[in-house]
Amino acid sequence: MLFPTAAIRIGCQQRLVRALGNTPMMYIKSLSKETGCTILAKAEFMNPGGSVKDRAALYVVKDAEERGLLKPRGTVVEGTAGNTGIGLAHVCRAKGYDCVIFMPNTQSQEKIDLLRMLGAKVFPVPAVPFDNPQNYNHQAKRYAQELDNAVWTNQFDNVANRRAHLETTGPEIWDQTDGRVDGFTCATGTGGTLAGIARYLKTQNPKVKAYLADPPGSVLHSYIQSGGKLTERTGSSITEGIGQGRVTDNLQPDLELIDDSLFIPDEHTITMLYRLLDEEGIYVGASSALNVAAAVDMAKKLGPNKTIVTILCDGAYRYQSRLFSRQWLASKNLLEAIPPHLQKYIVL
Ligand code: PMP
Repeated sequence: MLFPTAAIRIGCQQRLVRALGNTPMMYIKSLSKETGCTILAKAEFMNPGGSVKDRAALYVVKDAEERGLLKPRGTVVEGTAGNTGIGLAHVCRAKGYDCVIFMPNTQSQEKIDLLRMLGAKVFPVPAVPFDNPQNYNHQAKRYAQELDNAVWTNQFDNVANRRAHLETTGPEIWDQTDGRVDGFTCATGTGGTLAGIARYLKTQNPKVKAYLADPPGSVLHSYIQSGGKLTERTGSSITEGIGQGRVTDNLQPDLELIDDSLFIPDEHTITMLYRLLDEEGIYVGASSALNVAAAVDMAKKLGPNKTIVTILCDGAYRYQSRLFSRQWLASKNLLEAIPPHLQKYIVL
């Protein structure tokens, strides 16, 4: 065991929260060759909690501490599709807080199990729209209000989330590309990742293009394409953690920075998920595959010799009972979207 003095002497003083961020940028060779562009993807699955949401989790907790809303041994309460909760659970253990998570009961069992293993109390609740008082976010808010020394971190509308990407992910992308980035695209859940990164990159170079990528069941693509008409949510997607029925406070101030949007059907997402595995050895969840499919579409729109960056949000580990199950894929009518030479990866 290293005693503190020895740890200081050899420069090993970092605890979990300092291990967050500074993720590698990956060159996607096969798709770069195919498009004539340089397609890069930031490996956010390499964060300690395994996703891009670790950054927002740390920032909302630090924000609550700084504003005096969270005192020692307090409780952090959040509504989340899972990844923010996993990030929060890690940060809470490292900082000595309790963690309570409300999540829609449509999310994968792997995420619920992991949250509980990390010591969080989890309430899976019916997946109802935001305007229903039983929505997971409203339940999280009420729970925190009724508890002493508890804070609802409110990732959707708390702009500390966006600030995480403005102050960390955006600068990292700029540095890792030597400022030679032409386009950035990613999907949104809270919108924090897209808004923070788009804001930072455009501050450095206003010519950088930012595209929002959207799955089925989300309203943002049609919102952007129609110049601001909000429609009802219809349909659903295999992608977890992304897609939105409203414009959140994290996205709203930076919506003007979004140059265009791309709709990515689930068929394209699942094909890309299996291609990334086969061609690059990259094992990621569906939102990451959607992002890479969007980067390819953006490359086609911007033309050759451009550098396009996107985000690999998390690994496939937390979805494997679905994404690699023949029965589950068939139930979503997605088996045919996986080319015959890639079907060998469907092992469950
Ligand atoms: N991908 C995954 C797997 C996620 O869980 C999330 C967040 N729920 C996102 C992407 C979107 O990130 P953001 O909330 O910053 O828009």
